[in-house]
Amino acid sequence: MIQVDCPFCGKRNLTEFAYGGEAHIARPKDMAAISDAEFARYLFTRKNPKGAHQERWNHAMGCRRWFNAVRHTVTDQFWATYKVGETAPLPPDDWDGVLSKSEFEATTETEAK
Ligand SMILES: [Zn+2]
Repeated sequence: MIQVDCPFCGKRNLTEFAYGGEAHIARPKDMAAISDAEFARYLFTRKNPKGAHQERWNHAMGCRRWFNAVRHTVTDQFWATYKVGETAPLPPDDWDGVLSKSEFEATTETEAK
């Protein structure tokens, strides 16, 4: 069972949450000044990585608040969740998406000793 750590409520089952697409998509400051191609790129073009992805999530069956998460697109493992406006806690480049952030950090601390 996959659990998501809502920044407001704590860990809950994935079934309580709704995916909201890629995070950190900035709306152009002057919509009238951009070309149709730039508007189409803003509206439709999204990353599709095989690995860590920054996403928007909504706790639809809980507090109903939006937050961001870093999730591995192959394993569905969540690295971290964070409130909108906070800096994304990005995983290291060698994160394979198997371990969560706390498990990964515990492993690297053990290896360092
Ligand atoms: Zn919540």
